[in-house]
Amino acid sequence: MKFWKKCIIALLLLIVIFVVYVLLNVRSLTVETVSEDIHVIRGMGGNTTVLNTDAGAVVIDSMTFKIQGSLIREKAEELTGKEVVLLVNTHYHLDHTHGNPGFKPGTQIVSTERTLSHLKALDADNWQGDAAKLLPNDTFTDRRQFKFGNKTITLIHPGRGHTDGDLVVLFEEDKTLVMGDLFFNQHYPNIDLEAGGSVQAWPATIDKVLELGFDTVIPGHGDTTNRAGLVGFQRMMKQLAEIGSLAASNTTPLSDTLNSSALTEDAGYQPIKFGGISLGLNREFVLQRSWEESTGNFELKN
Ligand SMILES: [Zn+2]
Repeated sequence: MKFWKKCIIALLLLIVIFVVYVLLNVRSLTVETVSEDIHVIRGMGGNTTVLNTDAGAVVIDSMTFKIQGSLIREKAEELTGKEVVLLVNTHYHLDHTHGNPGFKPGTQIVSTERTLSHLKALDADNWQGDAAKLLPNDTFTDRRQFKFGNKTITLIHPGRGHTDGDLVVLFEEDKTLVMGDLFFNQHYPNIDLEAGGSVQAWPATIDKVLELGFDTVIPGHGDTTNRAGLVGFQRMMKQLAEIGSLAASNTTPLSDTLNSSALTEDAGYQPIKFGGISLGLNREFVLQRSWEESTGNFELKN
């Protein structure tokens, strides 16, 4: 067999292995019981949270693929024994929203105004045809409260950080906070400057969240933790913001900033992996984003 034929066969085999690997990973979901009424579902994408209420299941975020959305909806119904009455999208990124089409058309789907605007402007291709029926259909700007039977659910946009439209969810009676991607626990965060995200604003945004009444914290990525875990992440973001500010005032080149030893609060942090594949969310990435924001080397997209 000719060399190039062998190469093509090897390439095709690799593609098949990759597709099978992704398909297997996409369908695999694990469930963590946080309390009797709260479960976290993990899979390829951001964390999904399910709250059991007297009136039905409340689901926060829907992961990356339609099939995951369907499996999450089924899992939520199985865990609570009830239909899904509310789906919340914490922000517009695909690993938290692209599962929406797996839910039933007509489901109440809540996000902030900014998140809906980002979905339509920055992710328009995904939301054509039938998928558009599963876009958020109930939006707010700063604060929104729902009562479902025995549970009070407060949604708050605490400020800029990961994007300019993230919301956090407080389960009042359970003193549990769902942070979405305003909190990557022990992982380097994505910082979406182009969608209004900000390293500089992030620590004050967390200050606003810390005023709320909660003990348990569910991050957008990483393990469930508590107030101390969130405060530790805030310390890391503060250091990162200071490094950016200093680089701007001293006109430090990016290459020097990437080698900065001033970032110490990231001890033990790991880059996020998506089905075993690293997404490049590492120490260099967050240092670069901080430098880009402080020196104005980026462009808003919406
Ligand atoms: Zn995100």
